[in-house]
Amino acid sequence: MTSEHFDAVIVGAGFAGIGAAIQLKRMGYENFVILDREDDLGGTWHVNHYPGLAVDVPTTTYSYFFEPNPNWSRLFSTGAEIKQYAGDVADKYDVRRHMRFGTVVESARWDEEAALWRVALAGGETVSARFLFTATGFLSQPHMPDIPGITSFDGRVIHTTAWDDGYDPTGQRVGIIGTGATAVQLIPELAKKAADLTVYQRTPIWVVPKVDFRFSERAKRVFARFPLTQRAIRAVTDTIYELMVSVGVVHYKNTRGRFNIAAGDLAKMHRFATIRDKELRAKLTPDYDFGCKRPTFSNSYYRTFTKPHVHLQDSGIARIESDGIVAVDGTKTVIDTLVLATGFDLWEANFPAIEVIGRGGRNLGKWWRDTRFQAYQGVTMPQFPNYMSLASPYAFLGLNFFNTMEYQMRHMDRVFGELQRRGATTFEVTEEANTRYLDRMTELLGDSLFTTGDCASARSYYFNPSGEPTLLRPTSTRKAIQEASDFPLSDYRMS
Ligand code: NAP
Repeated sequence: MTSEHFDAVIVGAGFAGIGAAIQLKRMGYENFVILDREDDLGGTWHVNHYPGLAVDVPTTTYSYFFEPNPNWSRLFSTGAEIKQYAGDVADKYDVRRHMRFGTVVESARWDEEAALWRVALAGGETVSARFLFTATGFLSQPHMPDIPGITSFDGRVIHTTAWDDGYDPTGQRVGIIGTGATAVQLIPELAKKAADLTVYQRTPIWVVPKVDFRFSERAKRVFARFPLTQRAIRAVTDTIYELMVSVGVVHYKNTRGRFNIAAGDLAKMHRFATIRDKELRAKLTPDYDFGCKRPTFSNSYYRTFTKPHVHLQDSGIARIESDGIVAVDGTKTVIDTLVLATGFDLWEANFPAIEVIGRGGRNLGKWWRDTRFQAYQGVTMPQFPNYMSLASPYAFLGLNFFNTMEYQMRHMDRVFGELQRRGATTFEVTEEANTRYLDRMTELLGDSLFTTGDCASARSYYFNPSGEPTLLRPTSTRKAIQEASDFPLSDYRMS
């Protein structure tokens, strides 16, 4: 029945899976496997390779704490460079050889008698492991819009997560649905080549200017020779980003939204400086508070709409026909290619990304929906022994994923250190500790932008389908790291 047994199975070979693997090695485990459905490592940075792809977080900050990269070419690196960094880290820490690609994990079930996880793979095979980690990311299941007639379109349809590098929009009539962070990067690139580009916007996004620059060869040499210099810059960029989340989101009520108003004003000035057409500016203006939905940086997005061959359609999409899109205002636009920049199915398809059945048959997805989305310290859940979910409710620290990874690796270190010290083989968070954490998160979010700001029209994935903002962990990175290093060990039962 079971073909192979491991100490641990990690699902996902992105930055979370790589981080978990490095941590397992530090703790002395070698017999583990990383399973990933794609054909290479890197997670979202492998899957996404649409034109214009770059990161919105300064690269000084967008890296593992323990692995600064002196080779970043610029402050906001391109997707290709980040993918390269993932590969370099995996090689340096010798985790690539643990990876199995093209392997779709369907479910995992806790076997109480054997005290291990049975992990079912597509194709019928199963593997077993003492410990299970799901490192499946937050934005990994593409969202396909359910628009009437979409399957009847005769032209080419491309979702941004399945970009065809051979696709050339030169001279084409292109329609793009969506105006999220992905579209903001892609639209200016498409506009450079397409004969005609129509952008279908449902909810405008806040866009502020991007201050970006290249690192000179000399700066890179200094970073490599004196890593402290890069750490010093990281301290600055970390602090700026941390402050933005703290002031603009977590402590919104106390600051009376002053930061959000100022950031909104900056975006307004940016629009005003770029676009002369008052009506167009109004169409591109969000009517929800800055920060309710992921804002973005761009110096080219607004300017693109001033080009004569680029059109903004915001009346809604009535239906798609074989040769084009009919808007709610009756306008039909004939297109050759339909680009879906429609993002990800975060809550329905990703929480959790695979079926997970714990002790007593508790189904994680069902339990989250029947009760509330919850995870102790954004990592563990009661009735799920020997399991850490790295893409959990209340796990994400805000703008920088690597800070989340840092505290999760420390959490692993503390749990496994104690497990080994006691000579125990299973750990499980107590119901009481989990409830205490959930109550604290709920209380902290009470003062946040998500609870006290005007987010009603944002359609933001920060909110779950019940309208609760259960994605963000509303604490500072420093606090999360401190808690990961000194949470009460009595919060776990070990045997
Ligand atoms: P997204 O933010 O979820 O945006 C999806 C867009 O598609 C939204 O404008 C949405 O409109 C629209 N849409 C979805 N279904 C639709 C429908 N049926 N009809 C009309 N419009 C529809 O996805 P994303 O742009 O891929 O970005 C996701 C996240 O990835 C970002 O928030 C960010 O965290 C990350 N990201 C980061 C970067 C970066 O670092 N620069 C770049 C890309 C992505 P509504 O808003 O009305 O729902």
